[in-house]
Order: sequence, then C-alpha cells, then structure tokens
Amino acid sequence: MASPLGLGRPADEVLAAMESLRTGDVKWRDGRAFSLAYSAGPEVLALSEEAYRRFSGENALNTAAFPSLRSMHDDVVSCVSGWLHGPASARGFMTSGGTESLVLVVRAAVERARREGRLPAHPNMVLPTSAHAALEKGADYFGVESRRVDVRNDWRADVEAMAAAADDSTVLFVASAPQYPQGVIDPVAEVAALAVGRDVNMHVDACMGGVVLPALERAGVPLPPWDFRVPGVTSVSVDLHKYGYTAKGAGVLVHRDKLLRNDQVFVTDNWLGGVYGSSGILGTKSGGPIASAWAVMSHLGDAGYERLATAARSVTLAIAAHVEGCDDLRLRSRPDSTLLAFGDADDGPGIFALADELRERGWWVDRQGPPDSIHLTVNAVHEPLVDEFLADLDAARRAMRGRSGSSGAYGSVD
Ligand SMILES: *Cc1c(COP(=O)(O)O)cnc(C)c1O
Repeated sequence: MASPLGLGRPADEVLAAMESLRTGDVKWRDGRAFSLAYSAGPEVLALSEEAYRRFSGENALNTAAFPSLRSMHDDVVSCVSGWLHGPASARGFMTSGGTESLVLVVRAAVERARREGRLPAHPNMVLPTSAHAALEKGADYFGVESRRVDVRNDWRADVEAMAAAADDSTVLFVASAPQYPQGVIDPVAEVAALAVGRDVNMHVDACMGGVVLPALERAGVPLPPWDFRVPGVTSVSVDLHKYGYTAKGAGVLVHRDKLLRNDQVFVTDNWLGGVYGSSGILGTKSGGPIASAWAVMSHLGDAGYERLATAARSVTLAIAAHVEGCDDLRLRSRPDSTLLAFGDADDGPGIFALADELRERGWWVDRQGPPDSIHLTVNAVHEPLVDEFLADLDAARRAMRGRSGSSGAYGSVD
C-alpha cells in the first residue's frame, strides 16, 4: 500500500487509518505483553494521556517560559529522591528514560574525573555482565572502556572479580536493583565499597526497581540495602515510564549532591545563539512526559504504588513457582522483584519455540540470552490474567515439543 502521507486527507480518515495500522500491535492494554509496555488500568491511562495531551506542545528546554513544567519536574524529582532515601543534598533531573540516564551516568563519571584533575588517558568502567546495554552506549559515546565482569552462579555481581578488574583508570562502578536479565538485586553495598575505596562514582541502576522496591519495602517486604542509604552510592536511575505507569519518555536520575549532578550538565556559549544549557541529551523536550508523570504520581500516591507493586510481585511469585514445578523448564533465579526469566531444561534455543507458541496465543514475551531464555516483566495489568497465562504456558509447552524458535531481540533497528 502506498503511503498516504502528503495526500491531505481529513482528520477522521487519518485517525481511522492509524487505527487500522495498529491492528497487528501487541495488546498491552489487555495485559498481553510481558515486555515493553506497562499498564495500571484504563483509569490511570486516561489520566496520563490527558495530562500528556495538555502539555505535549510545551517545551521543557527552557522552563523560564514554562514555570508549570519546572514546578512539576521538581515535584517529580523530589518524590523519587524521597523514595530512594536521598539525603537532603540530593539533586536530580528528569530524563527521557533509562537509556538517557545511563548515558549521562557515564558522562558524569568522566566529567567528575576531569573536574577533579585526575582524568585518566583511558578511563574505564567496571560492571557486571548483567548491567543494562545502555551503559555500553554511554561507554561508546564517551570513549570509556567497558570492563564487563561475569556474574556469580546466582546471577548477582561478583564483587571480588570486580575489584580485580578495576585499576587507577576506573571512573565508575555499576550495580543494578534489580538487573534486567534475571531480575535479581546485586550486592550494592559491596560494590559501593569498591567505589569508596577508589573515590570514584558508583551508580545503582534502579530503572526497573526504583518505584517497585520502595513500595514493597513500605509494604513490609524485606530487601537488601540498595539505595542512597548505602554509603558510596553516588547516583540512582529510576524509570517512571515502567513501573511508575506514566507515559513513555520519563525517567529520573538522582545524584547524591549538586556537584555530582552538575557533571551531567552541558553548557556552551560557543555559537551565535546565546547561552545554551541543558541537563541531558535532548534539546527541545516535550512537556508531555513531565505532565503525565506528575499527574499519575499525584493520583496514585504512595498507597497506589504499594497496591500495584504488591499485585505485580504476587503474580511474579506465582509464575516463578509454576515454572519451578515444570521439569522441562528452568527458572534462572527466584525473583527479587517483579522480573523473572526461564530457559528450557538444556538451556537451548528450544525455549524460543515456547515463545512462538505463546505469541500464537496472543502473549508477547521477551527473548534473551545468553543463556537462551524467556524473560517476563510482570506488572499490575497481569494480576487478573495469571491463571489464563499459566494455562496457556502449559498448552504451549505441550504444543512445542520438537520445534525450535527464533531468538528475537531486546531492541531493533529495522
Ligand atoms: C529498561 C531499562 C533500562 C533502559 O531504559 P529505557 O527506558 O528503555 O531507555 C536501563 N536499565 C534497566 C535495568 C532497565 O530495565
């Protein structure tokens, strides 16, 4: 079909065409996606969309023109900083999400070394193999060597091996709470101690856990220490467009103090257009994600997030228990939060045939490796669907015997 762009069609026809374009999209609002999209139900979504619509054209590049955005931005950052037990000195900025946060984390670590007059010729960062791919992006952009250290048998960061991988050119250590691939929380305090020993930055990637873990802790779930209460943690990233259930394009990066925060900021007057300062990678920045975050967080409140996190956690545990009971499947780890992964009994690509079977039944799961695994990001939308999902999982297991599937990708470029 030829593209309709440029035809000058009436608005109602355009919208109808868009609705027909999306018929093949995964039905995330109905809870069919265990990856990529999150839903706290139609009421929260409606509020998010309305807030986004009202501020989509506003530009957070310069909040002097839009004090509304500054005010909402500051409220969002201070709420998240509170969840993270940030000290009074803590400061942060909203970002467009986890990737921008992590790219800026790498930049800030290099910038700190430069500011302190000890930038090595070849700076490196030391991080477990489980830490998010966006850190590679940051390392690539800013010329930092990425020293990936194998995780332990329990998928958590191997702190002794990380210590051995570090040297005088190390500017950054990273741990995750939880890490994405197997959903476990790294030994944050031990990794932070390495950073204290070398007096360099230590980032906790809580893009997944930054909303859920504080809510679970408030609800009484015991957790290992992972936030600003751990000495040596210099920054924490939290995505709101995941378990904050806000519109896409919203994350927060909080630093222990303003000096550290300034290391992510860029300012120049080296052109003919005046002083250009920006907190992140984007220039023009829609007010939509900020407004959505402010609206949804105001509406749900701490109690709302507790309810949603508890629901997601109980579905996660139910699925994990079911998988543990299947002798043809292998659970990677008991989940520490709301993410889990499992492979087949021989850890081979046969698990992707199961993903294909689930897709045929309308479920979208993430395919990852190594080792070859199905990954589930469980959220509140799945609560009423857990029995249906487990029944389909069992049907898919029966149907798949002997088939092999394709591995897919976390993100695509085509
Ligand atoms: C999702 C995720 C990221 C990347 O965030 P985006 O919002 O997709 O850019 C980083 N770290 C972890 C642990 C994540 O789960």
